[in-house]
Amino acid sequence: MGDKGRILLAATGWDTDFWLAEFAAKAPAREVVLAPDGDVDPSIDYAVVWKQPPGLLSRLPNLKAIFSLGAGVDHVFNDPTVPDVPIVRVVSPDLTTRMSEYVVWQVLDHHRRGPCYRAQQAAHVWSEDKNQCAAADITVGMMGLGELGRDAAAKLRAIGYSLSGWSRTARSIDGISCHSGAEGLADFLASADIFVVLLPLTGDTTGILDATLFCQMSKRGPLGAPVLINAGRGGLQNEADILAALDDGTLSAATLDVFCKEPLDRDSPFWSHPKVTVTPHCAGASIPSSLIGPMIAQMDAHDRGADLANLVDRSAGY
Ligand code: NDP
Repeated sequence: MGDKGRILLAATGWDTDFWLAEFAAKAPAREVVLAPDGDVDPSIDYAVVWKQPPGLLSRLPNLKAIFSLGAGVDHVFNDPTVPDVPIVRVVSPDLTTRMSEYVVWQVLDHHRRGPCYRAQQAAHVWSEDKNQCAAADITVGMMGLGELGRDAAAKLRAIGYSLSGWSRTARSIDGISCHSGAEGLADFLASADIFVVLLPLTGDTTGILDATLFCQMSKRGPLGAPVLINAGRGGLQNEADILAALDDGTLSAATLDVFCKEPLDRDSPFWSHPKVTVTPHCAGASIPSSLIGPMIAQMDAHDRGADLANLVDRSAGY
């Protein structure tokens, strides 16, 4: 133990026992340490983090790279003193697959009117309203065409949905009507019946899901007003504006996996809103067994001189 570089595990709010056990199994030659009281050995080579305590990483002069325990890295940048070393984020087939399962589940649920039938069941109502349109009649708009957005879009397309998408830089993806940047936003927002948000939380995207944006979601297709599914980050959404848009009919329904404050307060109006499906930030959890192996392989390769993969672009913030 300890004949390879040392790792700091700083995962605030997580049960670190699972992660330590997985590190011990996958990287017995590396010592993995915690810093519960903020004291940290300055010889640390790599930091593996989720919401690291601010200032902790800046005390590591030998730090070679930071590994985020999530695909998103907003939690890393919440620390203004994060040192200027490479930041690696999670890009994992396992995470991507589970995220796409979540998206397909929620899109199908809204398309096939799951919330309506559950409400009828709760009221013991056998309705003769069996109106069900085809997937081909529905356009799903992907806000974010990155690792997760592209995979979910491909799976939705295989079911038969039409796809449009929006990204920061221009993209050309077979089967998706692609839009980009501020200049492409209005056309994108007018294009879809169900919007799936898989954007990172950055300076540019904070609060982007607001009343102004919802008003531009102007399509009125087989589902009526558009549906919002946010599995990106809570900070993307103005929660008062979502509630107002649901109440005045600008949006017909919403599925929210992420919230400005997590856990969601017990008295949040989202819990009991008839048009809202709440899930507890479970769309794509980080699983030790699928993440630690590739992480260690990257550290080993980097120690032998290889470049790191899945690097964060600091200037873009994701
Ligand atoms: P990527 O970095 O691969 O993709 C991000 C996408 O968002 C890209 O298409 C990017 O554009 C686009 N984007 C970024 N900024 C803007 C902007 N200002 N305007 C328009 N488009 C923008 O990320 P992933 O697909 O891997 O992950 C997306 C997010 O999903 C994560 O950041 C995380 O917050 C969230 N997530 C949530 C989970 C959950 O359990 N709910 C689990 C995992 C991730 P471009 O293509 O031009 O770069």
